[in-house]
Amino acid sequence: MLAICEECSKKYNIDEFKMKGERARFSCQECGNIVVVAKQKDDSRAPDAASDFAGSDNESA
Ligand SMILES: [Zn+2]
Repeated sequence: MLAICEECSKKYNIDEFKMKGERARFSCQECGNIVVVAKQKDDSRAPDAASDFAGSDNESA
């Protein structure tokens, strides 16, 4: 994920799998500002329920 320093707008590419908690913070290498990154959960989509579409033909003779 991408983290941007608010002071100098330097961009950091953070590996969110290495983040232990929900948040991580580090000091910017350019200006020394504390940059806080928070994980963004992207599971807004609801899982689709498997639609049972079994058409049962009634054989009427
Ligand atoms: Zn900075």
